Amino acid sequence: MSEAEVPRHLFFAPHVDDAFIGCWSVLYYVEIPARKIIYTEKVDEVRGREASEMRDAWGVDIAFVDGVRGAIEELQKNIRENKRLGWPSLKVYAPDFYFETHPAHRALGCALWNEVGPIVDKRFFVYSTNMNVPYLRELDEKDARIKRAALDKYFPSQSSLWDHDHRYFLFEGIAQWDPWTAITD
Ligand SMILES: [Zn+2]
Repeated sequence: MSEAEVPRHLFFAPHVDDAFIGCWSVLYYVEIPARKIIYTEKVDEVRGREASEMRDAWGVDIAFVDGVRGAIEELQKNIRENKRLGWPSLKVYAPDFYFETHPAHRALGCALWNEVGPIVDKRFFVYSTNMNVPYLRELDEKDARIKRAALDKYFPSQSSLWDHDHRYFLFEGIAQWDPWTAITD
C-alpha cells in the first residue's frame, strides 16, 4: 500500500449507513483521504450504489469484506501498514458490542475488540446506531441539519428510519470502552 492509501481512521460497519449514522461528525470533519469504511454484510444493488455514491462525494475509501473474518484481516493489515509507516495514530471505530441490539453489529464489535482492542488500546472507539446509549450527545443545530441532508442524499432507501425517529440526525454516540469516555466534540 502506498502512503496515500493507508487510512488513519478505520470504520467498521455491517451495513452501508451504519458508520454514517453513528460517526457522522468524524467522517465529516476528518480530513480526506484518512478515512476508510469496511462493510461486512452483502448488499443489494440499491444499497451498493448508495455506498459508492457516498464514497465518490465524500472521498471516503470503502471496501466490502466477507463478514467478521474479513473485517479482522482488514484491521490487522491496516495496523501493520500504520506501523510500517511509523504512524502511531490509527483510530478504529466499531459498533458497540454492549449497547447495540442488532446481532450483526454486536458480533462485529465484539470480534474486533477481542482481536485487537488491547493492542490499539485507547484508539478503539465504539459507536451506536441505537441512539439510546448513556454516552449519546446532541449535535448542534448546524451539524444536525447537515447530517440530515447527507442521510437523505446518500441513503434514501433508509429514510423511513430518520423520518420516524429524529434522533438519527439530532444525536450521535461515540465512546471508548473501559472506561467509557464520551467523545464530546
Ligand atoms: Zn446496521
